[in-house]
Amino acid sequence: SLDKAARLLLEGQVVGIPTETVYGLAADAFNPQAVEKIFRAKGRPQDNPLIVHISDIRQLELVAERVPKAALKLAAAFWPGPLTMIMKKSQNIPDIVSAGLDTVGIRMPLHKTAREIISKSRPLAAPSANTSGKPSPTEAMHVFEDMHGKIPLIIDGGACSVGVESTVVDMTGEIPRVLRPGAVTEEMIAEVLGAAETDEATKKGLAKGQTARSPGMKYRHYAPKAPV
Ligand code: AMP
Ligand code: MG
Repeated sequence: SLDKAARLLLEGQVVGIPTETVYGLAADAFNPQAVEKIFRAKGRPQDNPLIVHISDIRQLELVAERVPKAALKLAAAFWPGPLTMIMKKSQNIPDIVSAGLDTVGIRMPLHKTAREIISKSRPLAAPSANTSGKPSPTEAMHVFEDMHGKIPLIIDGGACSVGVESTVVDMTGEIPRVLRPGAVTEEMIAEVLGAAETDEATKKGLAKGQTARSPGMKYRHYAPKAPV
């Protein structure tokens, strides 16, 4: 199944893959036509960037133009794991992945199956494998419910151990800034680097007219189809 996933990905197809955070909808991060299919399957707004997943620290230089020392320290502490770091993007990353930004979010997942698929194929751009706005899938069957008929393959890697999206931390400034809270906390980052901060918009929402530091901040998430 993993070989089949890798073959489809190298052909420019989209595959549902397990990670420890939530299930991802993956495509070759260097192939803009393939990444376009992710946006179509999810109904995702084109200005919402994707996270690029790597399986080996050596792939970092293919994806990021400049890797800050602090990022290497956080990678040593928390990768593989549920931490996404924003860095200046390399020329290899098409604009569709970064939604036109000059930065890219990068993560090395802990789930062994995800890393195996990446090492058999390429660094993979992957958002959560749900229809945009809906709850994120934490089991393969959830992916099937949203995506059947839209993608050729879903790999079942069991239930996700973390179950919520990765922490997103911006590494392009002086002090690392958390743009999306997750399992790796501001305190854990500060313990490694001496300092960290969290964007106010994660607590209060965006002020009227304020531009989102992280495009995902402005969209509705986790809206189920049933009363809760
Ligand atoms: P998802 O893949 O659905 O978990 O969404 C990824 C989220 O990460 C996006 O909605 C953005 O909020 C954030 N993100 C990804 N890339 C960047 C970036 N280059 N700059 C800021 N935020 C980013
Ligand atoms: Mg999502």
